[in-house]
Amino acid sequence: MNPPVNDKEAIRLKYLAERDKRLRADGNQQYLEITGQFSHYLDDPYTPVVERAPKTDHVRFAFIGGGFAGLATGARLVEAGITDVRIIEKGGDFGGTWYWNRYPGAQCDTASMIYMPLLEETGHMPSEKYAHAPEILAHSQRIGRHYKLYDNALFHTQVSSLTWQDDDSCWRITTNRGDDFTAQYIGLGTGPLHIPKLPGIPGIESFRGHSFHTSRWDYAYTGGDPGGAPMTRLADKRVALIGTGATSVQCVPHLARSCQSLHVFQRTPSSIDIRNNAPIDPDWFASVATPGWQQRWLENFTANQAGGNAEVDLVQDGWTDLARRIREQIRKLPATERTVPNMLAAYEDADFAKMNEIRARVDEIVADPATADHLKAWYRQLCKRPCFHDAYLQAFNTPTVHLVDTDGKGVERITETGIVVGGTEYPVDCIIYASGFEVGTPLARRAGFDLVGRAGRKLSDHWAQGMRSKHGIHVHGFPNAFFVQPTQGANLISNVPHNLTEAARTIAVMVRHAIDHGHREIEVSESAETAWIDLLRNSPGRMTSSPDCTPGYYNNEGQDPGPAAKLNVGYPAGATAYFKYLDAWRASGLFEGLVFR
Ligand code: NDP
Repeated sequence: MNPPVNDKEAIRLKYLAERDKRLRADGNQQYLEITGQFSHYLDDPYTPVVERAPKTDHVRFAFIGGGFAGLATGARLVEAGITDVRIIEKGGDFGGTWYWNRYPGAQCDTASMIYMPLLEETGHMPSEKYAHAPEILAHSQRIGRHYKLYDNALFHTQVSSLTWQDDDSCWRITTNRGDDFTAQYIGLGTGPLHIPKLPGIPGIESFRGHSFHTSRWDYAYTGGDPGGAPMTRLADKRVALIGTGATSVQCVPHLARSCQSLHVFQRTPSSIDIRNNAPIDPDWFASVATPGWQQRWLENFTANQAGGNAEVDLVQDGWTDLARRIREQIRKLPATERTVPNMLAAYEDADFAKMNEIRARVDEIVADPATADHLKAWYRQLCKRPCFHDAYLQAFNTPTVHLVDTDGKGVERITETGIVVGGTEYPVDCIIYASGFEVGTPLARRAGFDLVGRAGRKLSDHWAQGMRSKHGIHVHGFPNAFFVQPTQGANLISNVPHNLTEAARTIAVMVRHAIDHGHREIEVSESAETAWIDLLRNSPGRMTSSPDCTPGYYNNEGQDPGPAAKLNVGYPAGATAYFKYLDAWRASGLFEGLVFR
């Protein structure tokens, strides 16, 4: 029996009961690391590996990771006249997330006008409000070509060590392809979600049918292509999909059209809000894409999202809608009553309203009442990754599509021929794991290397009590190394590329400054790093990491992440304030807190 929509206390209790069902003692340990007998799940199905001679030279700037972080940094460096840039990437091309995630239906959830970096610089008009993966991959390649980043790139190459050479003020880099070269500067943009993980389901190794992870989609087996061509080879296949996160939501409608039968195994339903995608009209685009347009749009999105006071909402996507509703609810409070508890209560009211709407939408769309009930998310919207789709729920009305809800327990067992839930075996020919990516495992494990900085100090030791940096970019004891990622900076997770392009701009300005003034090293001072960390300790925690939320990677599977995680935050005054601060910091030319030698 579900609680009535206006009974807040009953809804709160339902949220807690659903969370409790899912809490597990093994937390993050429940997942399988893809090594040993599972290593083939990591093979690149998209690009053959090409033999090449190892590199033993020196470059001005080496960047680890060929996704948006590396592309944006490479682009800004080239714009600043620094062209000796080498990007090292484990995939067979640029694109990062969008290189690997080619599953059918893959699409960006943030509006492409702000999500796709360097649109103005490369002259590209996104084809849709929310671009699909092939267009984003092609855009990554466009950036690579536009800035001539292909010339010196190393693909299918994994860095094995990065060691600071004090005598020569440079980094020594070795890789799994026998490279052993040096770079004066390094950038790191390996991304937060790039190592696929498998669910630790008993018997997983015994399955004799076909199987793969969504980030290595096997089109040779399924037929079709990333553009959405029908997967004709599945017409006689019984397919199981494990997981119902953002990835699963996007590929289910495509599988539903193609398989003889599709069983979707669910542990926790996602919240599915309206997508409302549409093509971008070239005339409209021409009217808005006047000089400086993308920066204006980025700033407007962030102002609508995170601490700004934007008068208009240019972007109008799912994220700005979410923020607007919370703001409107808070604004209903008389000024004298805007206390923290009242504002939190207003936020909760906005959340109840939104989640009630999302649950009602399931009933409107899904014909079978029992299936509809299982597809309802009982937690606050930001407890898990919000999803937006206009064909996912509909797919469960297809007679060949079956939702197997595990009542929060997860799949019981995998056998040689199928999947067992609640004692029932579902025989299948193929298992597709939409089981997500490693989060919360040690950085050195996810990156594949540990940085060794000044005096042989390892980054893992420097960060043993939590991340320490200034701006999320500089780390004391690791000169000439720049981290390109959101944490300890803006931490704007609804549009990660904005964090990356701002960091990239900053790095290019600093390196240009060092070159122009004859400096060989850039390093944050110990006191400046400490001051930044002290500032971050005032950051309000994010609701997404609340232990009251249903478990998932947002909240360390519901377990206490320890004190170190308290530093995984952003600028206390919010993303808008951070970007303004950073702009002024770099424009001043003083680079307060850095030491140039
Ligand atoms: P997630 O980690 O979000 O989802 C993994 C799924 O596997 C969950 O539904 C999880 O259930 C389920 N699962 C894990 N173990 C078991 C088990 N033993 N039995 C049954 N089910 C199990 O991975 P995704 O790849 O979906 O998404 C990862 C992230 O990538 C997203 O959160 C998002 O940030 C990003 N992404 C962005 C997209 C975009 O912008 N458009 C599209 C796709 C992904 P449970 O929830 O209970 O843990």
